[in-house]
Amino acid sequence: MSLTFDTTFTFDSIGVVHSPYREKFAIPRQPGLVTADQGYIELSGPCNREEILRGLEAFSHAWILFVFHEAMREQWKPMARPPRLGGNQKVGVFASRSPFRPNPIGQSVVKLEGIRAHSGQWRVHFSGGDLLHGTPVLDIKPYLPYADAIADANGAYAPDKPGADRPVRFSEAASASLARLETEYPALQLLIEQVIAQQPQPAYHRQDEAKIYGMMLYDLNIRWQQSLQDACVITVEKQR
Ligand code: SAM
Repeated sequence: MSLTFDTTFTFDSIGVVHSPYREKFAIPRQPGLVTADQGYIELSGPCNREEILRGLEAFSHAWILFVFHEAMREQWKPMARPPRLGGNQKVGVFASRSPFRPNPIGQSVVKLEGIRAHSGQWRVHFSGGDLLHGTPVLDIKPYLPYADAIADANGAYAPDKPGADRPVRFSEAASASLARLETEYPALQLLIEQVIAQQPQPAYHRQDEAKIYGMMLYDLNIRWQQSLQDACVITVEKQR
C-alpha cells in the first residue's frame, strides 16, 4: 500500500533567540563547547504564556529546535565538508552538522539557566548555545538523559570534543577595556577566552602566520592575533 502524504509544511516560530553571537563567525560549532555565554529564548505570540513552560524549570537541560535563518539557501548541496575533517574531505549532508541542509532545521541541547517573565515577555534563559542572535525557535523540549545520553554511541569522525587548549592572553589595552566592561557584560573575559580557544578560524588557515581576526560578541568588536603558541586579544571595543 503506497503512502500518500503532504511533503511541504508551514510552521510558526514560538520565539526568538537572544545570544551574544551577532555574526556567524566564531559561534561554537556545537552546543556545550562554550559555557560562559548568556542567552535566552523570548517566547512570542500564543506561546508567550506561563503555563506552556510550567515544569520545564525542573529539568537541567533542554533541546532547542530552530531555523538556520541565515543559512536559507535555495539550492542545498548533498555533501558537506565538516571542519572536523579539516574542511577538505566531503561527507553526505546527512552525515554532518552543516547548517546548509535540505530543511534548515537545527537542534541544540543547552543548559537551562532560569525561566522568568520580563515586562510580560516569558524568557527561557540558557547557556552553552551555538545559536546566532535572532534565530527563530520552532520548539523547546526537555532533555531526557535516559533517552538522549547514549554512553556507548559511536561519534565516527567526531568522537569527542574538539581541542580547546590554545592559551588566550590579553594585551594591556584589552585588559583595560575588560575592566571597564565587566559589570555590563558578565563573564566577558571567560566568554572571549572560551570562544577563541575553539579556534573559530577556518581549519585550512595556516597557523604559522600571526593572522589578525575579528568577531562580534554582544555589541563588542573583539580583535585578536592567532599564532602557533597562543592567541592574543588586541582590542575589545564597543561597536560605534
Ligand atoms: N547543534 C546544531 C545542530 O547540530 O543542528 C547546530 C550545529 S551547526 C554546525 C552550528 C553553527 O551554525 C554555528 O557555529 C553557526 O556558525 C551556525 N548558526 C547558528 N545559528 C545560525 C542561524 N540562525 N542561521 C545560520 N547559521 C547559524
